[in-house]
Amino acid sequence: MERKGLLFVVSGPSGVGKSTLCKTMVARVPQTTLSVSCTTRNPRPGEQAGVDYSFTDKATFHEMIEANQFVEWAEVYGNLYGTPQQQLDEAMNQGIDVLLDIDAQGARQIMKHFSGAVYVFVTPPSLEVLRTRLYRRASDTPEEIKLRLQKASEEIANFRSYHYLIRNEELSHATKELESIILAERVKTERLNTEWLREKGLIEENTVRANSTIG
Ligand code: ADP
Ligand code: 5GP
Repeated sequence: MERKGLLFVVSGPSGVGKSTLCKTMVARVPQTTLSVSCTTRNPRPGEQAGVDYSFTDKATFHEMIEANQFVEWAEVYGNLYGTPQQQLDEAMNQGIDVLLDIDAQGARQIMKHFSGAVYVFVTPPSLEVLRTRLYRRASDTPEEIKLRLQKASEEIANFRSYHYLIRNEELSHATKELESIILAERVKTERLNTEWLREKGLIEENTVRANSTIG
């Protein structure tokens, strides 16, 4: 294995297109996977248990919190959501990059506990466009949509806590940007196992291992 898998935290308002973007990445970029969260919310039509979410009841979710099985968890619009630790460790230990599609509270928790994760914030081009997407998705009631739009402005105000900002207007453009971020993060010198340079004689045996000339 060349390196341990990276953790990409993809956050942004509900309905902005996070899960669409993350699913496209997994289909398009080799060696990536999407973490399957646990949730207490009911499945939407078309959602598959174990693929979109692991659907659990509240009692089970609380047992999992007690047993420290989540890297992070949060209550989002009245339901509980959490990222299971085990899946994440298994994928990253195999050198697979993991994408987390999580809300801003979850992203904040990861920021506190993980060094080296990459944080990407996805924003809509406007609140009007976000409203249209939420209505078109047709998975939430008008009251729920109102709440999501109110929360969106608060979340967008914190975009500076993230490394990257993607404006999801044209899906193909946003997809290309997220793909570029993943590919560029993978080849950062600090992340790579560069022993092969020595083995192939491309650098001298005694070349300083940590080249600290880039400041
Ligand atoms: P999130 O995971 O952030 O809640 P979704 O991925 O479910 O958002 O996207 C919300 C809705 O917007 C979906 O119906 C999706 O097909 C649509 N959508 C996502 N990105 C775009 C885009 N760039 N242009 C138009 N519609 C989009
Ligand atoms: P939805 O119910 O629309 O699928 O998701 C609602 C919100 O919960 C989205 O913003 C989504 O990113 C977030 N979410 C999904 N899984 C998790 C998780 O494991 N942890 C946290 N903190 N948020 C999550």
